[in-house]
Amino acid sequence: MSVEENVRIVNERIGDIAIKANRDPKDITLVAVSKNIPYNKIIEAQKAGVNQFGESRVQEFLGKYELAGENLDWHLIGSLQTNKVKYIIDRVDLIHSLDRSSLAKELNKRAKKDKKEVQALVQVNMSREITKSGLMEEELYPFLMDMAKYPYISVKGLMTIGPLTEDRDAIRDCFRRFRAIFEELKLKNLSHIDMRYLSMGMSGDYDIAIEEGSNMVRLGRAIFGD
Ligand SMILES: *Cc1c(COP(=O)(O)O)cnc(C)c1O
Repeated sequence: MSVEENVRIVNERIGDIAIKANRDPKDITLVAVSKNIPYNKIIEAQKAGVNQFGESRVQEFLGKYELAGENLDWHLIGSLQTNKVKYIIDRVDLIHSLDRSSLAKELNKRAKKDKKEVQALVQVNMSREITKSGLMEEELYPFLMDMAKYPYISVKGLMTIGPLTEDRDAIRDCFRRFRAIFEELKLKNLSHIDMRYLSMGMSGDYDIAIEEGSNMVRLGRAIFGD
């Protein structure tokens, strides 16, 4: 199937799921994950109406940024090495993988130099799988409080990756718990935090994620194929 066809199907599905869950489809942002995908396919997706793209690796992202630049919104969704921050700081629109103080410190420093805030989501390892990055659930609140030290980082919400399992109830449970944390933090109204985005849901589980309150889904295979 073509990218255009896939985009149409995905948008339709997001709409259907949202409406069934009593939600406005417009509240859900689609990020097309274009890692390992050649540039011409990105353009196909753009022509089909997608303008937010997610990349995992800095090197690959920079190559595509060279070609498309500011015409597209770029999300960095993979773990970010501190020494790569300087290359992406003025190019990326949202970082999904803020997961440690050393990274926060470097982001703040580079953003300050540019005199422009950097927007980031804090990644949480809800499934506690050792292969995954992200803060542990219990580390999140202290980490967010600590973000007050970094005025050039604008925290825009939270991100998680669902558990690696076929067990849809386990995935749902994980997303539901994450949503509860998100809502609780939103109610706290921390002055330096804007709890706007809940980034959860990939090609295999975005239906569950939307039912459980996600407002940002990251889809690779569903758009670009396997
Ligand atoms: C690769 C990746 C995705 C997209 O995964 P698909 O299963 O292809 O939809 C989403 N989020 C992150 C963090 C990823 O690394």
